[in-house]
Amino acid sequence: MTANLLDYDLDGLAQFCERLGEKRFRAVQLFRWIHQKGASRFDDMSDLAKSLREKLKGVAQVQALPVISQHISSDGTIKWLFDVGGGDAVETVFIPEDDRGTLCISSQAGCAMGCRFCSTGHQGFSRNLKTGEMIAQLWFAEHFLREHLQRDERVISNVVMMGMGEPLQNYAEVIPALRVMLDDHAYGLSRRRVTVSTSGIVPKIDLLAEQCPVALAVSLHAPTDALRDDLVPLNKKYPIDMLMDACNRYLAHAPRDFITFEYCMLDGVNDQIEHAQQLVALVRRHASGGVWCKFNLIPFNPFPESGLHCSPPQQVQAFAKVLMDAGIVTTIRKTRGEDIDAACGQLAGEVKDRTRVGERIARQRTWTIKPVSMDKET
Ligand code: SAH
Ligand code: SF4
Repeated sequence: MTANLLDYDLDGLAQFCERLGEKRFRAVQLFRWIHQKGASRFDDMSDLAKSLREKLKGVAQVQALPVISQHISSDGTIKWLFDVGGGDAVETVFIPEDDRGTLCISSQAGCAMGCRFCSTGHQGFSRNLKTGEMIAQLWFAEHFLREHLQRDERVISNVVMMGMGEPLQNYAEVIPALRVMLDDHAYGLSRRRVTVSTSGIVPKIDLLAEQCPVALAVSLHAPTDALRDDLVPLNKKYPIDMLMDACNRYLAHAPRDFITFEYCMLDGVNDQIEHAQQLVALVRRHASGGVWCKFNLIPFNPFPESGLHCSPPQQVQAFAKVLMDAGIVTTIRKTRGEDIDAACGQLAGEVKDRTRVGERIARQRTWTIKPVSMDKET
């Protein structure tokens, strides 16, 4: 079986090269060709010894994921759907902003967590993605964008693991993927610019703090256990107080001095003023000193099977005001790529019918993309 070189972080690639009788610096060269230059053919890697290139051809490849579809929104957001085999597909979204380019990547095909408001959750779980399948999303998007924007330097400045799946349930494959994102010989992203979003797998939050601390976002969605049990079933295993304690422990290792709480605004369910007041009390109860969290209120992206509706904008504003008046930094997520449904899990159901995959690839079009400005570093 040929190895997929996208599966390896630098140490993994060095071990692979060592098995071929090659020194570590060769692995560094190879790693740079793949991730910094976007090369997939060994013959293009001109400064690698010919003998190594020949050796690699027999045992390894850079295995990209086939693109099923690409949609570009009028606001510049791009959504790709990738074929991961077996009738499964995952989505990746690029969100250009004035001062950054964010890529949202998927960590699993489907998700086992079954959150009520999430269409990925409603699909159920298919399988964990391999490290290489997560990195293939970044590798493709970065080099596609560089080529189309005619840019030599990095286009993607931030990665968020907020696509399909629960990243901490696929911990062993996610860690090497994070290391590739952070590695200066690959994408060179700072820890503050790589975010893992979790529904709250407490032991894995602790492990992440120890092994590869990056920015952490926690999907809270409710101020009380009774309500959260209903929206995020994982809460029955790791209730809110336990989760808050884990967040506090994480802060000691985190690259940022706060945790982001995501809160999906559901009409009449979790969006009442009383819920905002309960959140303030919760945050205060768990604050060991000063500000330690931020809230990101997410307008719900509705889908019929959920039976849920999005909160009216004035309700979201009123809710945010309660948090802000209590001194909690609160943002309301801008909806991006609405015309292409670029939200968590939206395309998921559409791709179950594998017979259509070939048809979709054939229909794929070439698009022009608006340039993104990314001069400002934050
Ligand atoms: N499994 C992880 C990461 C993927 S979900 C997690 O739950 O955090 C990424 C974010 O999208 C989460 O905050 C999730 O709650 C939110 N989300 C899921 N479905 C949504 C929907 N229909 N509308 C708005 N946000 C949604
Ligand atoms: Fe899974 Fe996250 Fe969706 Fe919950 S919100 S079902 S954890 S992807």
